[in-house]
Amino acid sequence: MTVHTGRHFLQIPGPTNVPDRVLRAMDMPAMDHRGPEFGQLGLEVLAAAQRVFRTKQPVIIYPSSGTGAWEAAIVNSLSPGDKVLMAETGQFAVLWRGIAEKFKLDIDFVPGDWRRGADVEQIEARLAADSRHRVKAVMIVHNETSTGCVTHPLEVRKAIDRAKHPALFMVDTISGLGSLEYEHDAWGIDVSVAGSQKGLMLPPGLGFNAMSEKAIAASRNASLPRSYWRWNEMREMNRKGFFPYTPSTNLLFGLREAVKMLVEEEGLENVFRRHTRHAEATRRAVRAWGLGIFAVNPPEFSPSATAIVMPDGFNEAGLRAVILQHFDMSLGAGLGKLAGKVFRIGHLGSFNDLMLCGTLCGVEMGLKLAGVPHKEGGVAAALEWLSA
Ligand code: PLP
Repeated sequence: MTVHTGRHFLQIPGPTNVPDRVLRAMDMPAMDHRGPEFGQLGLEVLAAAQRVFRTKQPVIIYPSSGTGAWEAAIVNSLSPGDKVLMAETGQFAVLWRGIAEKFKLDIDFVPGDWRRGADVEQIEARLAADSRHRVKAVMIVHNETSTGCVTHPLEVRKAIDRAKHPALFMVDTISGLGSLEYEHDAWGIDVSVAGSQKGLMLPPGLGFNAMSEKAIAASRNASLPRSYWRWNEMREMNRKGFFPYTPSTNLLFGLREAVKMLVEEEGLENVFRRHTRHAEATRRAVRAWGLGIFAVNPPEFSPSATAIVMPDGFNEAGLRAVILQHFDMSLGAGLGKLAGKVFRIGHLGSFNDLMLCGTLCGVEMGLKLAGVPHKEGGVAAALEWLSA
């Protein structure tokens, strides 16, 4: 048995490292979720969530994974047979499409090679051609965690507006929120979907839907079956800080602390800058190793995760296993059709320069131990950037 000492390095693109302060904030006894103490916490975290999404509209917090929040976005705002426009950006876009299929939506999936963000021109062209407004929602993944490619929601919003199309605009920002610039209100997003275990620096277990007035109005006529995910019951109870069923009380204590750290102490603009800087350092290391970055278009490089292409004949699973065994570090696997072909470094959440240096050292040593062809000097290139 391998004995590991010191801290495990959790460098998958979520779940991310949970700060000790957040862990301590969650270290609370079970509480009465119908009592007055909880009501106050509920109001605080619902307001805190609005600050992270940058919205004045209601935000719903489910005791769920991100997948639940995906489903909630669909079932609250759409009806069986509704046409939706989605974009193939990677494995998470494929999985969200899978949920839409199960609810019998009519999906127009704009094709993509996974190496870039959504094809905004195609989205605009298809909306412009939809003169009868059959498309009820445009659904994109902000930060494709499986590929390290960003789709800029504001660009999609502008395309929808240019086409003068009334479709709802839904964005999965599960690995974007709290790491990449995000403006729910200013970018005209109707439904935002997020989860707790990425940029929000919490354990998994909270799913979020932020909404617009237009989405709330659409939910009144939407007829997909829903019970657990019903926005209206949640919103009604949330007015006084309560939930229709048992909320994840301890995670909510953590959320209050995490938002304090991100919004009040570090400041979201600084949080975004930190992620961008660490992503650049990571890419410099990858290039110096002579390996390929999976994303091809620099404006779409993800600030929160980098997918790295394995040289032909080498499997990422083998490399990750060597790194886990020798250095106690977890890296992201290749997902879906990228299994075996790319590995991913998560540089998001509670993270700093030295954690990134340790991560890149682990990768560089792992490449050597696993016999993966590469050049030396990746860590040095990152250090150069970080210390400039
Ligand atoms: N969407 C994106 C972009 C993700 O990265 C993930 C998970 O990594 C999900 C959706 C699914 O979230 P969950 O695994 O919490 O259900």
